[in-house]
Amino acid sequence: MGHKELWIKIIEKMSEDLPHAQIITWFKDTAILENMNGVLKVGLPLPFFLGWHQTHYAKKTLEAARSVDPAIIDIEYIVDIALTDGSPLVIDLIKHFPKNDARKLPNRNETRSKDGVVSKILNPAYTLDNFITSAENRLAHAACQNVAKYPGQNYNPLFIYGGVGLGKTHLLQATGAEMIRNDPGKHVMYTSTENFVNEVVQGIRSKNMEYIRKKYRRIDTLIIDDIQFIANKEKSEEEFFHTFNALFEEGKQLIISSDRPPQELTLLSDRLTSRFESGMIIDVKMPDYETRLAILQNKCKDAQIFINQDVLEFIAFNINHSVRALEGVLKQAIANYELEHTAPTVKSVAAMLKTTQKKEIKMVGFLPNDDRPKGAVTMDLLIDSVADYFTVPKSEVMGQSRVRDYTLPRQVIMYLAYAKLRMSLSKIGRALGNRDHTTVMHSIGKMKEQIKNDRQLLRDVNAITREVGIH
Ligand code: ADP
Ligand code: MG
Repeated sequence: MGHKELWIKIIEKMSEDLPHAQIITWFKDTAILENMNGVLKVGLPLPFFLGWHQTHYAKKTLEAARSVDPAIIDIEYIVDIALTDGSPLVIDLIKHFPKNDARKLPNRNETRSKDGVVSKILNPAYTLDNFITSAENRLAHAACQNVAKYPGQNYNPLFIYGGVGLGKTHLLQATGAEMIRNDPGKHVMYTSTENFVNEVVQGIRSKNMEYIRKKYRRIDTLIIDDIQFIANKEKSEEEFFHTFNALFEEGKQLIISSDRPPQELTLLSDRLTSRFESGMIIDVKMPDYETRLAILQNKCKDAQIFINQDVLEFIAFNINHSVRALEGVLKQAIANYELEHTAPTVKSVAAMLKTTQKKEIKMVGFLPNDDRPKGAVTMDLLIDSVADYFTVPKSEVMGQSRVRDYTLPRQVIMYLAYAKLRMSLSKIGRALGNRDHTTVMHSIGKMKEQIKNDRQLLRDVNAITREVGIH
């Protein structure tokens, strides 16, 4: 028996007396990594799974394992975050353990057939609520909310495109899940394009195309992820085109994602891309620094793990190409945390990033002051210079006064410390009379806006940067 097969059998055994949700939550991305003379090495995807498995599942798992294979004598756990990246060792839990209470939903008759249409959304962790919005993805999020509420009405088809790891799958699955919550009788189908293509290939092979056609045309909402992968698969594209039309004509909602806009999907037929262009097309881009930071903070809160604000800022600052990468680095930092029993620091994370990231890691502003290159402008010098420039006492700038004469220089300092000295928000806060990093973030945002509209202020800021030597 292979590792995967054995693991499925063990989980099957356990699922006899564990609720489905527990299996899905705590056995997702787990795997048997090794079987060494009866000692099973079980891989867990995240550090905080470790304690949980040890206290809640270790005994049950061993019992189940023994009942499947009496030669098993013990289980050892190992955290391996690579398991979360679609590792081939991991089993498709949802496939092997489909939620069987779908039968209880007030579905229409035809959906009850054994392998007929069931609403299928893969990852319950993706919700519209836990998707953090910024200027770069707000529109896509809003359109998804609207579609979840009024399927088939305002934005149809809804076409979302953007680079890898920017939240398309999250949005698509969250929208589907929300639709089912709003109307449990509706048949919402999420599928990857790869899965669709596989079904078509199998349908052709087993001369069962009619069945697949029927299956797809019975649903109320079709969500198809990464449609770019249908390129050069002519039969699948043809099938999809007809499915699309059939559903669309009946006013059914279609949601499609892709890595590029329809007009750039040049390998697809024009008749299909023009269908896409007839609806709402929205892109998702990489969120700005503040949003990246908020995403990290949220993930920490969800995982109930405390990580130093400086470290989160450092990660948010350096990882600016993909939210998935952002999460990956955080997971890695947490993994190190648990393994070494020390909280991650900017230094330890920087060392990690240097081995895993291709691009240069920027340390400026995150290092302790004494690591700074000689002659570099310090926060002290900046504060002195700004106070001098506006002819106000330094103590007032550092203090709590809300008089504009003092708040403006204070904001200028925060802005320049951030934009020019590249200091982290927490550090700026600490250096300026122990202010909270969110206050600092807010002030910087305000400053950015004001500079856009206030030419005198812009001149002031430029004069200061020249004087201090940081322009
Ligand atoms: P894509 O499908 O565009 O490649 P995903 O939807 O798989 O990207 O997103 C990668 C990871 O980043 C997921 O874990 C997702 O939850 C997370 N993510 C992306 N954008 C956001 C966001 N705005 N807020 C919260 N999490 C996000
Ligand atoms: Mg995706």
